[in-house]
Amino acid sequence: MQNKTIILDYTKDELAELIKPAFRAKQVYGWMYHKYAKHFDEMQNIPKTLRAELDEKFILMPLTAVQKEQSKDGTIKYLFALPDGKTIEAVLLLMKPEELGDDGEVTSEAKYTVCVSTQVGCKVGCTFCLTAKGGFTRNLTPGEIVAQVLAIKIDNNIPAAKRMNIVYMGMGEPLDNLDNLATAIKIFKEEDGLAIGGKRQTVSTSGLSNKIDKLGQMDLGVHIAISLHAVDDKLRTELIPMNKAHNINSIIEAVKRFPIDTRKRVMFEYLVIKGKNDDKESAKKLVKLLSDIKAKVNLIFFNPYPGSPYERPSVKTMVNFQEYLINHGLLCTIRQSKGIDISAACGQLKEKERETDSDDWS
Ligand code: SAH
Ligand code: SF4
Repeated sequence: MQNKTIILDYTKDELAELIKPAFRAKQVYGWMYHKYAKHFDEMQNIPKTLRAELDEKFILMPLTAVQKEQSKDGTIKYLFALPDGKTIEAVLLLMKPEELGDDGEVTSEAKYTVCVSTQVGCKVGCTFCLTAKGGFTRNLTPGEIVAQVLAIKIDNNIPAAKRMNIVYMGMGEPLDNLDNLATAIKIFKEEDGLAIGGKRQTVSTSGLSNKIDKLGQMDLGVHIAISLHAVDDKLRTELIPMNKAHNINSIIEAVKRFPIDTRKRVMFEYLVIKGKNDDKESAKKLVKLLSDIKAKVNLIFFNPYPGSPYERPSVKTMVNFQEYLINHGLLCTIRQSKGIDISAACGQLKEKERETDSDDWS
């Protein structure tokens, strides 16, 4: 057991180097990602000796669900144990439920997004974030990232052909684990695997500007979301200590260099904290800061937890802030807490446009 590696760690080409003849890699991929095999012994078209060899060398599924909470809105939060017993969270978000016609036929398919973790803990140490409290333990391997989506598909009987969206917004800072993140992105994209294209994958980062550049140079076709949260460096450094090394300006410059699909926008996440960054002056600065970027802003309610140092803003404040941005030409949505009754420490909140009917901010 100890020396086994995780078979989900490998791209199809890498696996073809390890399993001979090479075409077996495609077959094994099919068993793992399409037929949801639970054991190498189920892989009937693989010779018995090879199956035994695979079983000796590899772990097939590195995750065990140790806790599962389902919210009223369909969100399911998982706590998974890794092979070394450490735990991480992943969340299945039902973005749009399936719609049925009069005759019971599916007229519109359900849309799912999986929020995945990339590290056990996090080094960045944001003062508003629950993950930061436990410090950093280790990076996830590519297979431990990929397995979160696979395990969730299997657990929910989601057909293999159903393409999911992925947001790297769970525990950890994805760009602080860039090599494994890049491999996971490639494995997700494999047509013989989960076939989740770059456009369906969004990497959320607290803003390691040099790594934003590196990710861009890899040309993987993924989207990025920037956790901005503040418009001046003083407050941003209070919220995200490593802003000292990667200040707002360096992030904006890196975003401008990032290869973005011309039809798409870069998402800026703005965590709204009562009395900290929720005033008109901040909104004004935000408009200015993003004025020459194809941006979209997502306002997030600060989600308090026991002992958290900040407070949640009122709905009215959020709506006022949003109104101001929209009236000044910025696209802006307010993220509705998805599964608020199960509270996501990974901070994943569903994006949903709100109707606005506010007044006094102009
Ligand atoms: N490390 C990456 C991705 C994981 S954090 C990043 O920071 O972008 C994912 C999101 O959860 C971030 O946008 C973060 O701001 C948000 N988040 C963290 N703590 C939160 C809280 N207490 N309330 C609401 N959102 C929170
Ligand atoms: Fe890490 Fe993101 Fe939490 Fe900051 S918000 S501590 S970067 S997981």
